[in-house]
Amino acid sequence: MTVPDRSLQPVSVAADWAPDSWRGRPAAQQPVYPDPEALAGVQEELRRLPPLVTSWEILELKRLLAEAQEGKRFLLQGGDCAESFADCESGLVSNRLKVLLQMSLVLVHGLRLPVVRVGRFAGQYAKPRSADTETREGRTLPSYRGDFINGPEFSDAARTPDPRRMVKGHARSAMTMNFVRALIDGGFADLHHPEYWDLGWVGHSPLADEYQRMVAAVGDAVRFMETLSGEALHNLNRADFYTSHEALLLPYEEALTRQVPRQWGWFNLSTHFPWIGMRTADPEGAHVEYFRGLRNPVAVKLGPSATPDRLLRLADLLDPGNEPGRLTFIHRMGATRVAECLPPLLEAVRREGRRVLWVCDPMHGNTEVASNGYKTRRFENIRAELEQVFELHAAAGTRLGGVHLELTGENVTECTGGARELTDADLQRAYRSTVDPRLNYEQSLEIAMLIVRKQAS
Ligand code: PEP
Ligand code: MN
Repeated sequence: MTVPDRSLQPVSVAADWAPDSWRGRPAAQQPVYPDPEALAGVQEELRRLPPLVTSWEILELKRLLAEAQEGKRFLLQGGDCAESFADCESGLVSNRLKVLLQMSLVLVHGLRLPVVRVGRFAGQYAKPRSADTETREGRTLPSYRGDFINGPEFSDAARTPDPRRMVKGHARSAMTMNFVRALIDGGFADLHHPEYWDLGWVGHSPLADEYQRMVAAVGDAVRFMETLSGEALHNLNRADFYTSHEALLLPYEEALTRQVPRQWGWFNLSTHFPWIGMRTADPEGAHVEYFRGLRNPVAVKLGPSATPDRLLRLADLLDPGNEPGRLTFIHRMGATRVAECLPPLLEAVRREGRRVLWVCDPMHGNTEVASNGYKTRRFENIRAELEQVFELHAAAGTRLGGVHLELTGENVTECTGGARELTDADLQRAYRSTVDPRLNYEQSLEIAMLIVRKQAS
């Protein structure tokens, strides 16, 4: 890791902020814990536990995101909609890493840009819900809000929020991080060995030939550079991975917010790159207040109801110094709304000279219920949103600097379409998500290839 660049220090520090100042604001999407004393005890325990990431990693990521804002890097952010405690397994974690590494190879090769890899993992355990309660057969219980908070089973015991789950989630996040770090340090991401990223279960995929051609081209380029320089290119042996999650559950995030020696200000040390979800992005709300005081790079999700005024207000609150790398906006409008909703936002940010990284999440605006009741997303809608977004940015004089995807390295059938043309009838075959439908391996790779084609056109 390089030493953080001093020029990245923000111009202003929020003097009226504290890790718990969010408590004075309306906090949306929070569980009601039956025992406040148990909650306070858990927070005290969390405050003493070691952090999951370090301040220098966070500042290094901020520097990379600043370069992405300038068009020198592309951000690939992806993982499950929601991690579950049960899925903290070596195979699932490494398969997810393999997909992200294969996608980033496609992007590096096609975009001719380094890729910043950020996983949606090691802490993605809290979910916003559209309803606080769920009713089945006349019985009403609290909604499932992610494994950090309660369990998905429809029973009183499972659905009652339990603060001890935060301690378990912290441990699961640490195990995930530890495994990812060990794999990367051991050479798992080495560009000399892309065969490490082959997924055991993949038979002959329709995309395999195109992917293998890219692997061969990258291999040739690596060997050529090594011949020229007369030695191995060491930084190809490792690819840094950063973590992100929606920082939704504020008592948890507050307890992991720390000051560190020889650094000023406060860091959220539960993740490198926290984001604010669409449902909690009220400028006057608790989440924006909490994020305002952090030194991490931060992102905000924007849906179709975002207005230019609200966007600029968010930028003023979260990034008063227009600091390089600090602010990312993730738009998720949906294929049918994006052409109408996005341009006014791009125009406002450009007009005000705001430095932001624009990222497209083509998943969350395209969720629907299939004829057989499964929550799904159609590949053609995901593709349609992405394709339009490249053009809308070009027309506005802004740049799409990354994508945010829900994906898995497993052979699931949760989104329809793609190279294997999955239909509604295929959904029941391998639908595993408890929350949102994810792209499977082939659909993910296809998205990476599509981005490359679109950027080149
Ligand atoms: C999510 O990322 O899983 C999510 C709920 O997104 P959004 O806040 O954009 O709806
Ligand atoms: Mn989701």
